[in-house]
Amino acid sequence: MDKENLKNYLKKALRTIRDRFDNVSDIEETVNRLIKVWYEMSESFNTPPPKLRWFPTEFEGILIKGPIEYSFLCPHHLLPVFVKVYVGMVPNGYTLGISKITRTVFWACRKNFALQETITKRIADALWEEGGGKNKLRGIIVEIIGKHNCEEIRGIKCDSNVITIEKRGKINKRHLSIFIQFMQKFERV
Ligand SMILES: [Zn+2]
Repeated sequence: MDKENLKNYLKKALRTIRDRFDNVSDIEETVNRLIKVWYEMSESFNTPPPKLRWFPTEFEGILIKGPIEYSFLCPHHLLPVFVKVYVGMVPNGYTLGISKITRTVFWACRKNFALQETITKRIADALWEEGGGKNKLRGIIVEIIGKHNCEEIRGIKCDSNVITIEKRGKINKRHLSIFIQFMQKFERV
């Protein structure tokens, strides 16, 4: 469906609840803004994950990047979810250009309207499978802490955080405990 069609449908739809708008003349511009927001929030739709650059290293510890603060729209209400994303990596001869971690997170959040679970998996897969991390790293861990506006402002109206974690490869106990200690330093979203 092209934007023009979408615009017409939305205009019709919002006019059916025109009484709920303080000023009915706002609807036209609101529809334009709504479409702009939805396209912006899915701006990496149909684009492949960012190409990763790997650098040789002898480092054998854990590299942790975060919090990467970003947002996406939940698929059930199209309301924002604010997230802090943490990625931990244990190299196996190679390390990753760190800005690519951020780019991968941004890409995963804006690919389409998805659940936090899906986005967590998407980041892990993009770094491990598609990005070739499985041949260059011992393991990775991706953790997302999300604040879901759809839970906070409507329905149950509860202010809480949702945490999702994905792991690939092997992360030993020592590295895992460093990651957990690091995570505990940061506030909730
Ligand atoms: Zn929702």
